[in-house]
Amino acid sequence: MGNEEKIAILQELIRIKSVNGNEGEVAAYLNQLLNQHGIQGEIISHTEGRDNLVATYHNGQGRVLGLSGHMDVVSAGDESNWTYPPFAAEIKGNRLYGRGATDMKSGLAAMVIAMIELKESGKPFNGTIKLLATVGEEVGELGSEQLTKAGYVDDLDGLIIGEPTNYHLMYTHMGSINYTVVSHGKEAHSSMPQEGYNAINHLNEFITRANEQMDALANDFQNSALGKTIHNVTVINGGNQVNSIPSQAQLQGNIRSIPEFPNDQIIDLLQKIVDELNEGTNYHLELTIDYNKIPVKANPDSSLIHHIQKQFKQPLPLVGAAATTDAAEFTKSAHSFDFVVFGPGVVNLPHQIDEYVEIDNYLDMIDTYQAIILSYLA
Ligand SMILES: [Zn+2]
Repeated sequence: MGNEEKIAILQELIRIKSVNGNEGEVAAYLNQLLNQHGIQGEIISHTEGRDNLVATYHNGQGRVLGLSGHMDVVSAGDESNWTYPPFAAEIKGNRLYGRGATDMKSGLAAMVIAMIELKESGKPFNGTIKLLATVGEEVGELGSEQLTKAGYVDDLDGLIIGEPTNYHLMYTHMGSINYTVVSHGKEAHSSMPQEGYNAINHLNEFITRANEQMDALANDFQNSALGKTIHNVTVINGGNQVNSIPSQAQLQGNIRSIPEFPNDQIIDLLQKIVDELNEGTNYHLELTIDYNKIPVKANPDSSLIHHIQKQFKQPLPLVGAAATTDAAEFTKSAHSFDFVVFGPGVVNLPHQIDEYVEIDNYLDMIDTYQAIILSYLA
């Protein structure tokens, strides 16, 4: 396939608006492209308009290498702030602009084209290449959760997730927890506070204790690649009127977790704070966990990583990141496999205006993925 066609495929993908939905159109486009080149895909529907795509190319009984990318993108925000319209896929010099150019339609396109080029060339390898294109990564890793539960990763020996890492190998990333605490009080006139219970004061107690205890564990547990656990109360609201004792207040918090102090222990800690406060007179706090993605850590010395490093004169840096990926769901499988996050794109650009990918980087990753596949499945 010529470079112009490879670039045109990425442009087509960016022009499909799959903002937190509509991945079905992306899946159908990629499936048709693969079919045209003799690779069979399977559409696995999540909900209306949202389909995952799994496609395999078998060539012998050897190992199974998964290649995974998500098909959704985040909102472009106020499109008038973009220099290049976010869904036009305009090219300026070596840059291709658009929402998803970096995160991560370039990675997804590079993986699909790598499969097609291997098929076209007929180069020998022994094993199976398995594409796992997912829905809803940005809003809860919905597709990877669905595919994992349905057993689609149970045959993998290795998995590459093509999120942007710009020639770094990300072998570990933090987990993420979102939680809500609601405080129920009793309304009263502010001149007679003894007639009510102040929901804001009770919630404030929770914030103080949660900050103290989360700071303490951040000091006690650290990870050399990821750093410390991060906790922040990020949303708060409550009360109705300036001269009323508030009967309700609530907050939301976000935590970035590390393997040394895993999510279930953090959730226990938050629940314990709530339970202890609720033993106090008239306290009524409720904790809800809204989002729970575990931290992941792959073996940095795995066969998969060795086969990737072999493709480069200088070894690529092994890194960790704060952001979560579909690996947080895929690795919940009882079946374990090697994985790494490695894809084209600029690391600090996801979710920003004027997102772009460098065309050289994108084209090079198509070749690099093929070299890795041929080496890993030799
Ligand atoms: Zn992404």
